[in-house]
Amino acid sequence: MTDEPHDAAATEVVADCPRCGKPLPLCICDSVEPLQSRIKLLILQHPQEQDRALGTARLTAQHFKDAVVKIGLSWPSLAKALGRPVDDPSRWAVLYLGSAHAAELAHGRDVLAIDSKGQPLPHQDAVLEDIEGVVLLDGTWSQAKALWWRNAWMLKCTRVILDPAAPSRYGKLRKEPRRDGLSTLEAAAMLLSRLQDRPDIETALLASFDRMLVRFRQVQKELPELAPKPKKRDWRRRRG
Ligand SMILES: [Zn+2]
Repeated sequence: MTDEPHDAAATEVVADCPRCGKPLPLCICDSVEPLQSRIKLLILQHPQEQDRALGTARLTAQHFKDAVVKIGLSWPSLAKALGRPVDDPSRWAVLYLGSAHAAELAHGRDVLAIDSKGQPLPHQDAVLEDIEGVVLLDGTWSQAKALWWRNAWMLKCTRVILDPAAPSRYGKLRKEPRRDGLSTLEAAAMLLSRLQDRPDIETALLASFDRMLVRFRQVQKELPELAPKPKKRDWRRRRG
């Protein structure tokens, strides 16, 4: 955890980037090119998600002019979380976590809209074509689950699950207990590109992610206290 003495010393001498929140040696903000996206993005971050080094919420949002990142546990409505009116919450997709059978259900689709019982909705193409915004829950699996349960308005949104063809590019850098195993950035890349047939969005986001990981590995060698290896006692694993 960050209250260890050597971590405290490191954060005192190295400033954080005001845009991505990462210690400056890990920041790749200058290389981020803004993208146009018809589908809007809202990222809700659990207040205890503290992985500044490898977290991707703010980096993801930086790719889009009007993406919103909110830190908290609960909001009374989608409009309140987003900070502006929403005509029809059902046209917003929430990436749902209980996707244990995603691969079986998906039948070759990598984005699937499901009902409250976890079954695929009829008329997938029509439902997904109507989506105008995406909500992502940022944190460990248990943190994301807490966000899901504390925000009843998500039941009015359209639940979607992902069945990614490839595992997360985090590789061994992070133990991710979630079934779909993707970072917030990778999930955004998949959803925003598939839902509006914009492969360029996925390409750009994943390129940024790769740059972030390259930078992380460099910093790991030079300033290891800023880019710690996952610890055996890591709470992420214990709670996973
Ligand atoms: Zn930055």
